[in-house]
Amino acid sequence: MALMTKDEYIASIRKLNLNVYLLGERIESPVDHPIIRPSLNSVAATYELAEQAEYHGLMTARSSLTGETINRFCHLHQSTDDLLQKVKMLRLLGQKTAACFQRCVGLDAFNALYATTFELDAKYGTEYHARFVQYLKYVQKHDLTVNGAMTDPKGDRSRAPHAQEDRDLYLRIVEEGETGIVVRGAKAHQTGAVNSHEHLVLPTAALGQEDRDYAVSFAVPSDSPGIIMIYGRQSCDTRKLECQSGVDLGNAQYGGHEALVIFDNVFVPWERVFMCREYEFAGMLVERFAGYHRQSYGGCKVGVGDVLIGAAALAADYNGVINARHVKDKLIEMTHLNETLYACGIACSVEGQPMAAGNYLVDLLLANVCKQNITRFPYEIARLAEDLAGGLMVTMPGEQDLRSPEIGHWVDKYLRGRSGISTEDRMRVLRLIENITLGGGAVGYRTESMHGAGSPEAQRIMIARQGNLEFKKALARKIAQVEATIDGGA
Ligand code: SF4
Ligand code: FE
Repeated sequence: MALMTKDEYIASIRKLNLNVYLLGERIESPVDHPIIRPSLNSVAATYELAEQAEYHGLMTARSSLTGETINRFCHLHQSTDDLLQKVKMLRLLGQKTAACFQRCVGLDAFNALYATTFELDAKYGTEYHARFVQYLKYVQKHDLTVNGAMTDPKGDRSRAPHAQEDRDLYLRIVEEGETGIVVRGAKAHQTGAVNSHEHLVLPTAALGQEDRDYAVSFAVPSDSPGIIMIYGRQSCDTRKLECQSGVDLGNAQYGGHEALVIFDNVFVPWERVFMCREYEFAGMLVERFAGYHRQSYGGCKVGVGDVLIGAAALAADYNGVINARHVKDKLIEMTHLNETLYACGIACSVEGQPMAAGNYLVDLLLANVCKQNITRFPYEIARLAEDLAGGLMVTMPGEQDLRSPEIGHWVDKYLRGRSGISTEDRMRVLRLIENITLGGGAVGYRTESMHGAGSPEAQRIMIARQGNLEFKKALARKIAQVEATIDGGA
């Protein structure tokens, strides 16, 4: 059966000869590095839950390509129910890890590429779709984690890719031969890159004719010659190097990561090329991938939000104030905001439609509304969590102080909350809130809520495009009984 166990996944990443740098040094075994490992554990959870009978139905699906049972992270959505199951799966994983589990970017890229290559071939008689289907069968069979790589560094934002002073600031084709192409450039902010078997590259934006060398999509193993991954720093990351029992981490087991992935003249054989200079299709690919990933946030961020709400309630409990009216009200507000995000994730899924290739796309307007709300509500939820946690969350001494034979008893005595709750438990819960709102977890919960899957302006452009203002003006004209139109509008 095409399912890997958690242990098999970890062993398979260990086998790769990855070129990873962290804090200026090449890392021999990324799988075992204490800063990297929690992020690997989060991806491993996508395999572990699929092994468990309780979650098997949610975490797996029947492949539309082979009929085999596969991990849902490798699935092409065959219905609006599949879209819905995806959102539920991501919420579950957010609840289990309180982190970014990284594997969704690959899933979103599969669905966008499957549909777009189909339409591209219909126009040009090319064979990209058949190639992509072969590739996806390989991914499904081996249950791979694939980094869907979209975002280029972009340099001067006022200039098109070909007009950049350094043309490598967008990834491009630099050579084309009988056996394949050679690409050069980089992809920035790559979620889960170091924990992935493959990089699946897509263009970063709609492109014009002069930018055709940048209209490229392909897949390569993540240890291909010429690939260099530079691990992104997160606040509090070196706390993971302290050999204590993880009190100061808040979330010792799980995390997420991003990396700057360099493609230094990487060769790609033709059978792994899914777009080569068909620049008119770059925008369609970007729009669909972004739509899917904006839907994803209506699941993953909600799951992490569940943990944060729970931690805030625990902190209030440990302080002895859980029954205070304002505390209850803040928890209600956090829940209201979090469930509103979930409602958006569900809405864009059930309003999904099949594309020409047969797989389903989310409702793009609702997916963009979902993500626009994600750029705001987690910040308010985090603000309320910090309010309930109290200042101690950022002023308390560390685990070494608690364990110190000399001063530990002072920390234990003066950081006590309600009777029956140990100081260590109180510290752990406050550190969890710190982790999600200010520490390593904040990358996934806060700043990624702003910029991941596109910054707020990107959604507003899509909302403007999808909002159908002319239709709404026509409605108003009819009710108001006015005739006048401007610029030939409806
Ligand atoms: Fe998945 Fe959310 Fe991480 Fe994106 S941010 S990869 S949707 S967990
Ligand atoms: Fe993300």
